[in-house]
This record gives sequence, C-alpha cells and structure tokens, in this order.
Amino acid sequence: MIVSTDAIVLHAMKYGDTSKIVTLYTRKYGKLKVIAKGVRTAKNKVGASLEPMTISSVVFYKKQNRELSLLSKCEIALPLKNIFAVEDKLAAGLAVIELLSMTMHDEHEDEQLYCSVVETLCEIDRAQNNPVNVFIAFIMNFIHRIGLSLTLDRCVHCGTAIEATAGHARFQLSEGTIVCAACAATSAQSGMPLSMGSLKSMRYVTRVPLAQSTELTFSVTARDEVLEVLQAFMRYHIAGMRTLRSLSMLCR
Ligand SMILES: [Zn+2]
Repeated sequence: MIVSTDAIVLHAMKYGDTSKIVTLYTRKYGKLKVIAKGVRTAKNKVGASLEPMTISSVVFYKKQNRELSLLSKCEIALPLKNIFAVEDKLAAGLAVIELLSMTMHDEHEDEQLYCSVVETLCEIDRAQNNPVNVFIAFIMNFIHRIGLSLTLDRCVHCGTAIEATAGHARFQLSEGTIVCAACAATSAQSGMPLSMGSLKSMRYVTRVPLAQSTELTFSVTARDEVLEVLQAFMRYHIAGMRTLRSLSMLCR
C-alpha cells in the first residue's frame, strides 16, 4: 500500500553505502521506520528532509507486518529556520523528539499528539526568549495526555493552597502531588524538594498559550529543578523512560 502523510523525523542512521534507516513520527501511523535508499549520494536532494526534527511530507510503501517501509518521496513540509542554530532551542527541540522516541509505541496513531509536537517545535523555533519553557509546557501536557496527572495547586496533606504557604514544598513522584513545607516538616513526608518559584513557574506555563509561556524568565536553578522533577516523575511512571540526554546541552 502506498501511503502519504506528514512526519517529524526522530532519528536517522546510515545504512549500507548510500542509504539511511529513518525513524519517523507520522501524523497517520504514529512512530515507524522507513528505509531511504540512495539518499546519501551526491545527486540526491532529499537528505535535508531526513534530518532529525525536520517536519516533512513523506510517501512510502507500507507492507503489513514488515518492520521497515520503503520511502519513495520526502520533502520538507514546514521549514524550521532557527532551531538548529541556537543552543537552547536545539536542546529543547531535540528533547521533544528524544522523549517521543523513548515513549511512543510503534504505529500507535495519535493525530492530536502529532499536532501538539509540530506546534511545540514551531514555537521553539520562533521563541524570542526562554525556548525551554515551551518544552516544559509540552512535557506537562504530554504527562496529562498519557493519562498521568499532576496536582500542583494544593497540599495533598492539609489542603492549603500552595500559594499561601512558604518554604520548599515536596513533590511526590508516586502520586504527582505536592506536600507543603509545614506538613513535610511535621510528618514523615518524602519526595523531591521543589521551591515555590519552580512550582509557580510550572503552573504558569500550563495556564497560558504556548507562545506566551516564553515570556516568563526562570532562574537557571528553578528551570533545572523543574526539568529534573518532571523527568523523575516520568521515569517513575513510564517504562523505558530515561534521562533526556539532549537537555545536557542547555546553557547553564
Ligand atoms: Zn500541608
């Protein structure tokens, strides 16, 4: 069956002398692998459309129960102009596709998630400031989409609004909930420490439209704390989830 769809390139590796095996996250079929024959020859023009993070239109020959589909056509559908040139944008964009590579099952179609990934990459590409905020908003939305939940507004123990409390709260990985500093001090509450600034920032980026999320400047400490807590939560709940290597490129 010949199929045509849009796709985000997740990963590409050399195969033989002239070909590549490319992992795509497609709009219609979810994650799948294609073999792109002859794309590494000098005459071939499709190479750039198979670079990781590129949003491309693809046509391929799909056979039932075959792990690899044969790519017949590929071109850039939505050019990203800045994401490859700015370090924090590159780290945020690569972290999005690294997360998808790790957590998506093959051929699990989810058009809404596909659209959310495209929107995220485009927003990172055009962000004037703080592109990593777009990634943080994406992770928090992703957590919700895969059926996990985060409750960040009230202490799960005493019910007090977190805004009204002081000190470091504690984030509980098993439940995705917050324990205020007072409750954490008086009972044996475990969990990761989370500053009030980090908590407020997490809530801000999910409340506002994606483009507006970049208007908030986190301190590097708060940004790293948020990224660490969210990754630890995903590692706790999602099989196969590991620390995102792309984030080690972030400017400190
Ligand atoms: Zn409390």
